[in-house]
Amino acid sequence: MQIGTREQLVVLLSLLICIAVLLFDIASPLGVAAGVPYAALVMVGLITQRPRFILVLAILGSVLTVVGYFISPPGATYDVSVINRGLALFAIWATAIVSYSHLSILSRLEPMAITDHLTGLYNRHYFTSELVKQINIWRRYQRPLSILILDIDFFKKVNDTYGHAAGDYVLETLAKICQEVVRDIDTVARIGGEEFAILLPSTAINGAMQTAERIRRQTEAYVFHYDGHRFRLTVSLGVAELNDESWSVTEFIKAADEMLYKAKNSGRNRCMARNIG
Ligand code: GH3
Ligand code: MG
Ligand code: MG
Repeated sequence: MQIGTREQLVVLLSLLICIAVLLFDIASPLGVAAGVPYAALVMVGLITQRPRFILVLAILGSVLTVVGYFISPPGATYDVSVINRGLALFAIWATAIVSYSHLSILSRLEPMAITDHLTGLYNRHYFTSELVKQINIWRRYQRPLSILILDIDFFKKVNDTYGHAAGDYVLETLAKICQEVVRDIDTVARIGGEEFAILLPSTAINGAMQTAERIRRQTEAYVFHYDGHRFRLTVSLGVAELNDESWSVTEFIKAADEMLYKAKNSGRNRCMARNIG
């Protein structure tokens, strides 16, 4: 379900709950416990998975619980009414606080679960899940879909010559180069130690090759500065376009990987592409 649709559903359910319980408050001769169902508002808020939405509904539920006390007809003793309204407020805020803290933790953990800590790029897990989505979209609409896989040439030498921290700096810099070259809708991920992958929706093989070439040229031209050292590096890239219904994520990545190895075996610092199928 889309976020927009979820929120519309929550607003609708909240309105229904408010109207139903206000009517109950007005009609009830007992004037007790009508506030408790307002806690349901908080639970409805959980559908949105947004902590702030839950707080807004908790405040709304609290206001209505108090208003309900004044509009419900007298019947029960003052003490019983006040105690029940108090319990209702407790139910609302206990539910809201638990839900709010739970969702806040989840929203902080989620970016960590899909991000590579060193480069800030997406990780392999996220890349694969995005690829699954895009392959399904491709099957439905047949819009072109390409991926490219990049591997740094002789990266081990950087670590051996200038140290591991210099290698990390290279990875961070290359991540920036890749992000600058691609469009907003493309997904750049670090899928291995010194391997990056880029998902290019609505892009056929020629466009993907142009992107790969731009990354290759920009890397080749870049002068890395680290701890008083200046050095240059090159990268090799494998490119593949999806054009076979039967291919899965694994086969698609394998096709780009094969092109990467071909680029390596042909002398490195180059891009190689093929269509799948
Ligand atoms: P090739 O041109 O064939 O790709 O040679 P290469 O030296 O780049 O390839 P190889 O697979 O031999 O070396 C990859 C190196 O990447 C080895 C490993 O120490 C290094 N590496 C992997 N992850 C990291 C990392 O997070 N930081 C640093 N600094 N180095 C890493
Ligand atoms: Mg490698
Ligand atoms: Mg390498």
